[in-house]
Amino acid sequence: GDLLGLDNLVANTAYLRAQCVDRDKMRKQWLTLALPKPRMSSALQASVGTKYESLCEEQPIGKKLFQQFVLASNPQYMVATEFLEELSRWRFAEDEAREKAKQSILAKFCKPESKSFLSYLTREAAERCKGLSDKNFDEMMLDQIREATRDFLRGKPFSEFLDSPFFYKYLQWKEYEKQKINDRYFYEFRTLGKGGFGEVCAVQVKHTGQMYACKKLDKRCLKKKRGEKMALLEKHILEKVNSLFIVNLAYAYDNKTHLCLVMDLMNGGDLRFHIYKLGERGIRMERVVHYMAQITTGILHLHSMDIVYRDMKPENVLLDAKGQCRMSDLGLAVELPKGKTVCQKAGTTGYMAPEILKKEYYRTSVDWWALGCSIYEMVAARLPFIDFREKVQNEEVTRRTLEDECKFEHKHFDAPSKDIISLFLKKKVAHRLGCSDDPRKHAFFKGINFHRLEAGLVEPPWVPKSNVVYAKNTDEFRDSSTVEDIDFEFKDEQFLKEFSTGAVSINWQKEMIDSGVFDELNNPQLNGHGCDTGWE
Ligand code: ADP
Ligand code: MG
Ligand code: MG
Repeated sequence: GDLLGLDNLVANTAYLRAQCVDRDKMRKQWLTLALPKPRMSSALQASVGTKYESLCEEQPIGKKLFQQFVLASNPQYMVATEFLEELSRWRFAEDEAREKAKQSILAKFCKPESKSFLSYLTREAAERCKGLSDKNFDEMMLDQIREATRDFLRGKPFSEFLDSPFFYKYLQWKEYEKQKINDRYFYEFRTLGKGGFGEVCAVQVKHTGQMYACKKLDKRCLKKKRGEKMALLEKHILEKVNSLFIVNLAYAYDNKTHLCLVMDLMNGGDLRFHIYKLGERGIRMERVVHYMAQITTGILHLHSMDIVYRDMKPENVLLDAKGQCRMSDLGLAVELPKGKTVCQKAGTTGYMAPEILKKEYYRTSVDWWALGCSIYEMVAARLPFIDFREKVQNEEVTRRTLEDECKFEHKHFDAPSKDIISLFLKKKVAHRLGCSDDPRKHAFFKGINFHRLEAGLVEPPWVPKSNVVYAKNTDEFRDSSTVEDIDFEFKDEQFLKEFSTGAVSINWQKEMIDSGVFDELNNPQLNGHGCDTGWE
């Protein structure tokens, strides 16, 4: 009773307090940090990469160091990178800002008399560039000039970068990135959720203050339920996808008892919690549209990589501190190269498509069905074929799914939501929205600018309160079933080697930059070894 309530209060206070990082206190810690010497082990060599795209565009630290190199070396290189920056700003801008960006590009880079004229272009490309004007600001032409600019940077500038002290710095960071990760790397806070193989709790990286969620998979439980392969697949898919609308993986490691997946902390709670646990049941339509636009984009991203999600439901959609949502829980996802299908029964009762229930072969169609069920649930606080808290046998759910028409009795359905749900809930795959048409074009999404949404520029319609914990009380996660202490050892070396790969490059580098550690350690005044070349 009261004691449990007190436990919960203490856990919540610690968790909320951790999220207010004291920068000055952090900075004091950093004084003892130093970048390691690159040892050029085979693991490091394999992860360094040699491609311009990976080093100077995709990896945030590589990009920063390349930028610093450019700044220190040649004004012409500088013009090229500035042009790329301004071009991408123009692409995502709207209205007035877009017009302004356009005028700036024309004046700065396209006039031969300007000192920022793109003089590295071949004569042909230069002519095209000069031809650009207010009326003739052709997107295809700009793409060509952009590619010509990247070709230029990929050449001499990139090879000079590889010979510079900036690249040595990059190797030092890569060496640092390769460090072994264990429990001591984090502080641990309260449990946020519970899943089939263990719990998810909040953690904080000790030396950056960055908060994450750690999904812990109990090794014994995995072994007993034969879930090892699934865990590895979940990890592989999470580290491969890089989308604003899918939870990012930052670290993967294991300890004696658990496999740990450390991901973006989504402290706004899952959508199931928002539908059923907060005041009035259901979610306001404006929010439903925004979340579903983000999830549709996320699903399309997965499908473009030939991944079928198979576990679309509000419970697996999580909100971050700003109120943006992401899909999580890729434990049921499968990779199905073009033309390949499966007939395995997978998913959650109430969200499974007719083709799964009929044990037919299927591919991506099942995600669109489940998305239809999810939209329905967000509006009506019940599923299309199961009422709220109705106890019903799986056979009956299957029968209703295959035979019944979906009814819209709830007062909050409007014409576009009814229409899009009906189209996602077409029993025949060939007729279902998403399987042949682009769902983003549906009237339900008419208020959404998908370009801006994909660039993360659309403000969320609702922002979680920073002093509220959007999760069940901690005592509700108390273990009821204890796994009996079977004599057990988890010693599949190959498996653990594949799973426990430590930091995930891009996300780790983002953490270093966002927390300020990058600037701190990169400061030449403090770390006077910038020109120290040659390594052991
Ligand atoms: P399972 O695969 O066992 O269903 P999930 O990955 O869905 O496990 O996690 C279980 C629950 O933990 C989720 O429903 C959610 O409430 C919470 N949770 C999972 N991931 C996060 C996260 N990144 N941030 C915050 N809470 C999370
Ligand atoms: Mg789940
Ligand atoms: Mg799962």
